[in-house]
This record gives sequence, structure tokens and C-alpha cells, in this order.
Amino acid sequence: MSTIPETPQWSALTARVWTTTVEPESVTCGLVAGEDHALLIDTGSTPDQGRALAMSAARMLGRRVDRVVVTHHHSDHSGGLPGISAAEVWMHEAALAHCPDLHVDHPVSLMAYVDLGGLGAEVIHPGPAHTDGDLIVIVRDENITFVGDLVETAGEPQSDDTTNVRGWPRAIDSVITGTDGAGLYVPGHGHPIDATAVMAQRAQLAERIPMDIPLTPVGHIPPQLS
Ligand SMILES: [Zn+2]
Repeated sequence: MSTIPETPQWSALTARVWTTTVEPESVTCGLVAGEDHALLIDTGSTPDQGRALAMSAARMLGRRVDRVVVTHHHSDHSGGLPGISAAEVWMHEAALAHCPDLHVDHPVSLMAYVDLGGLGAEVIHPGPAHTDGDLIVIVRDENITFVGDLVETAGEPQSDDTTNVRGWPRAIDSVITGTDGAGLYVPGHGHPIDATAVMAQRAQLAERIPMDIPLTPVGHIPPQLS
């Protein structure tokens, strides 16, 4: 039995960028509005939640969400997509291979540009990291970068069997380099942080590699790391 999700409450990061958090996975979803198009970044866990995200955004903006980027295949980010109609969708081709039933208009291999009208969103695959099909979204004019689960401020970084632990710090390096360390980075779970805080997480990840400390599996309660 599906339950009706709560109406998402959007909060503004800039005049053209908003975020909201949806439960039960505490996913941070993004909204970017240009003059011609409105872009939703990540869709929540269920079709009902995806529909609620798109409807609440449309109510706030006075026009519908017609662009969607899914940062990776995990169900808390991609599961809402079937509830969102009449939108063009971008997702990494490796992510799409994990959920072939999703309707995706633009499978991305390396990068794509989503023109929103007077504002652009750069969609970039920073290399295999949290999953084999991560995408980040740079809204350069607003100094905001959505980094998906490459960074987390609501818990420990999580892994699945597609995670590339060695590639992950390199991917974060390319995110910071590609954005000149400017502005705010919005994680897939938790509140936005600056480049210094992102690099602190990068250092923690890199430390695990020689010590072979396992990451928390996706969907599990994080253990207390000593
Ligand atoms: Zn994830």
C-alpha cells in the first residue's frame, strides 16, 4: 500500500535555485529555474514522491518542471521518476543500465548541457566513484553544484557493488577543479557545504584506501567508526 508523501517544502539557495529534503531516505532534491525551463535534480524514492516534488515545484514557480537530472541509479534518487510526466530526462548511461525500465531521453556518457533559458546546467560524469554512473550538476551562474552522493552531510558515505573507492577522491578533485572551489556544493543527503568541507570529506575517503576500511553499504545503518 502506498502512502501519500508529504508536500515538499522548497527553500531558496539563490534567486533561481532551491532545495528540499524528502523522507524516509532524507534525500536532498534540487530545483533550478531558468527563463524557459525548470530542472529538478533527483526524484525521491517512489513515483508518488516524484509527482509530489514536481507538483510542489510547479505550484511555487507557476509553471511545470520539464527537465530532470537523476544523479545516480539508487532508488532514493531515481525512484520518483515514473511519477513525473512530460519532462526531458538526463541520466548516466551506466546508471540507466541498472534500471532499464526508466524512461530517459538523454543517456549521458561524459557531459551534457541543459539550457534552461538565460541559465545553464552543466551535467558532468566525474568518473566512477559512489557508483559507476554518478552525475554532478553545475549551475555556474549561481555558484551552486549538486554533487549527488559523492558527498554526504547527513551520514557516512555509502557504497554498493559498483562503487569505485579509488576513483572517488579523484572524482571529488575534478568536481572542485571544475568549479574553481566556488560557492556551495549540495550533497545528495544533508545540507550544502563549501569546498573546504568537501575536501575534508575527500581526505577521509582517501584515508580509507590504504587502510582498506569498508564503506557503509547503501541502505544500512552506519556503524560507529572509531
Ligand atoms: Zn546513492
